[in-house]
Amino acid sequence: MKLTRRDFSRLGSMAALASALPAAKAQNHSSSQRKFGWCIVGLGRISMGHFMPGVDVSRTGKLTALVSGHHEKASRQAAMYNLPGGAIYDYTEFDEIARNPAIDGVYIALPNSMHAEYTIRAAKAGKHVLCEKPMATSVEDCRKMIEACQKHNVRLMIAYRCQYNTLHLKAMHLIRSGQIGKVQGIESAFGFNIQPTFVLDGVRLPEWRLDRKLSGGGPLLDVGIYALNASRYLTAEEPVEIRGYSSVIDQDGRFKQIEENDAWNMRFPSGALSSCSTTYGANGMNFFRVYGSKGTIEMNPAFSYDGMHLKAQLANGQRIDEPEVRRDPVDFTTQADYFAHCVWNREEPKTDGQEGLRDMMLMSQIYTSAGMKAL
Ligand code: NAD
Repeated sequence: MKLTRRDFSRLGSMAALASALPAAKAQNHSSSQRKFGWCIVGLGRISMGHFMPGVDVSRTGKLTALVSGHHEKASRQAAMYNLPGGAIYDYTEFDEIARNPAIDGVYIALPNSMHAEYTIRAAKAGKHVLCEKPMATSVEDCRKMIEACQKHNVRLMIAYRCQYNTLHLKAMHLIRSGQIGKVQGIESAFGFNIQPTFVLDGVRLPEWRLDRKLSGGGPLLDVGIYALNASRYLTAEEPVEIRGYSSVIDQDGRFKQIEENDAWNMRFPSGALSSCSTTYGANGMNFFRVYGSKGTIEMNPAFSYDGMHLKAQLANGQRIDEPEVRRDPVDFTTQADYFAHCVWNREEPKTDGQEGLRDMMLMSQIYTSAGMKAL
């Protein structure tokens, strides 16, 4: 199988990831090595439900600070994780994290349009940044985030958790090692039926995902990005042609500011074609399929927090049927440990700012192709 430069860099990254955990754990075993101190920015569904429990069981990291606009909620979380006094900041005090040596890095789990501001402020405070996907809501903001992190000499990683999941890594390995022949086509989709409100910590709140100022767009930025990113890491190629479509079907008030559905097709340099879709109007869209000249790989579900399921039919006749055995929050622990490893070893994370920027540029192309405003 012919490998591109990008293949090699990805394979290198995979090897780095494979070696990251033992290395990080080994450092943690030394009693003189302190743990990587995490400051959580935004106490919402992903941070409280997944990332914080992930760090809590990490052997290389620990929670050291919280940034929240809700003091009571933050105090409860701080007590739950035995955080030290003075560990809670509100958004107006954010820049004071610079003076807290217990904070090595921040995890940004805010609405999409706030990622750029808090990444840049964290970089100025000298803190490394793990930022949730989508990286931001515009190409320009992504560039500013990369620049700020470079200028202040801090690492920037985008939290593409699937790229750290064992089954996704296995699918990449099967493809790279030629076990399904040449990739001809990929199909992938991720979406859900969004509700106008949600309950967080006992309080019913409006869903910011439906507010363009906070979300930057519809399901493409939120969940379609998983299918887009998967098409890129499965092929290890960058698309050379891309066409997008969008629609709103439900006139029930949810889609006044954003689209409900997106679909897009991509052509890669090898000739592989990818067909993807996303929705905020239906449940059950959560898979990828890779069709090779000598076999197939399917993951369904593919992008959940838990219970992913890989099936493959390989060129040598072997069948794989592998449901995930590891459970949430393992991928979040892996991600946090890998980031700490990158910081400690001065390595560029495999899902760095450039990776987030590439997706943002492609999503912008999908939007313009579908007749919407560029990002
Ligand atoms: P959420 O609404 O549950 O949490 C957002 C947090 O931001 C809340 O604590 C909220 O109080 C705070 N916030 C601060 N200013 C706000 C404002 N002006 N409006 C609304 N909230 C404000 O959101 P979430 O689902 O946790 O998503 C947060 C980020 O994480 C998003 O960028 C999302 O794309 C990403 N995410 C990633 C994954 C993943 O698997 N990697 C999963 C879900 C969400």
